Amino acid sequence: MRTQAKRRVGILGATGTVGQRLIHMLRDHPHFEVTALAASDRSEGKPFADACSWKLPFEMPDAVKAIKLQPCNPPLDCDLVIASLPSDIAVESEAAFAAAGYPVISNSSAFRMHEDVPLIVPEINPDHLGIIPSQQKKHGYDRGYMVTNPNCTTIGLVMALAPLQQRFGLEAVMMTSMQAISGAGYPGVASMDIIDNVMPFIGGEEEKVEVEPQKIMGKLAGSKIEAAPFKVSAQCNRVPVQDGHLESVRVKLSRTASLEEVIDAFASFTGLPQELKLPTAPARPIIVRSEKDRPQPRLDRDAENGMATVVGRIAQDTIFDFKFTLISHNTIRGAAGAALLNAELLVAKGLL
Ligand code: NAP
Repeated sequence: MRTQAKRRVGILGATGTVGQRLIHMLRDHPHFEVTALAASDRSEGKPFADACSWKLPFEMPDAVKAIKLQPCNPPLDCDLVIASLPSDIAVESEAAFAAAGYPVISNSSAFRMHEDVPLIVPEINPDHLGIIPSQQKKHGYDRGYMVTNPNCTTIGLVMALAPLQQRFGLEAVMMTSMQAISGAGYPGVASMDIIDNVMPFIGGEEEKVEVEPQKIMGKLAGSKIEAAPFKVSAQCNRVPVQDGHLESVRVKLSRTASLEEVIDAFASFTGLPQELKLPTAPARPIIVRSEKDRPQPRLDRDAENGMATVVGRIAQDTIFDFKFTLISHNTIRGAAGAALLNAELLVAKGLL
């Protein structure tokens, strides 16, 4: 059987927190190779090794060291772009790449809630890729299109909500987050603000977490996505943790469920990436911990290479129906790994 050549990937925002994760995750990837890197005019023209202040505890891959940083506009020498740009920059840049014929897989919030842009979590709503043709038609894109992944707090939440919605129905969700500092990019929150402290405000975060789950868990109806009807109330806090967003969640279900049924819904959850054995897919998308003091950021964020959502402290609630705590690695499952899994899904669906 003929093996297809690797797709050539361009990374927008390559020098950033998410860009570096992507470069690490793309080393020796079976479907992709990095051929182009782009960032701001501060980096333009420099070899990646000189432009990037590498922050991961792994060696920078040799294959990217000499690649020169280019501006974040087309053309780039690649077949698709994976973008991790500040959202105000993403608005123009991502649209320009899609219009120029490149599939764009985006981490930013710029287009997530646009009605013709799919907001994909491959375990939950791979069918939403079905709106790509209407996106292309509406914007006059020829081969280009946009696919987005959720906010880094939304993704852990929806991974845990999806099995509950599928089995019992969901009426209401209340979530309080304790979010890692790497979620703010580099250099992010000033050390003077976060050491010995908790910041009870993350600009725009609660608004995103209160609307993205309903789109992800909504129904594809023709060329539209009908948002799921449950409500989400979110309070987001920045805490002095390096990586991993911890979330305390309470849910009201549509039908009565026992504690055992809820635990089983989490533990047995699986989806298309597991069925297709996509290279970055976690074998267990949700890991249930029964210890009374888990999950914790340091102990649980790297489960399944940072791609699993770890759920624990599952119990009946006195006001809602159930409560639980989850953790999700914000720069892996919440960003680089989410975009890469979307890219792998697009390959599997014949869209790349
Ligand atoms: P970051 O560490 O601040 O990196 C930003 C990247 O964008 C850098 O490569 C930077 O290049 C580039 N950039 C900045 N201004 C630019 C401009 N004017 N023109 C072109 N490129 C520019 O941020 P990040 O944490 O990687 O986040 C990137 C995106 O992913 C954001 O939209 C963020 O909301 C989203 N996201 C982040 C996380 C997370 O956990 N960090 C999770 C989910 C989603 P230079 O090095 O040249 O300045």
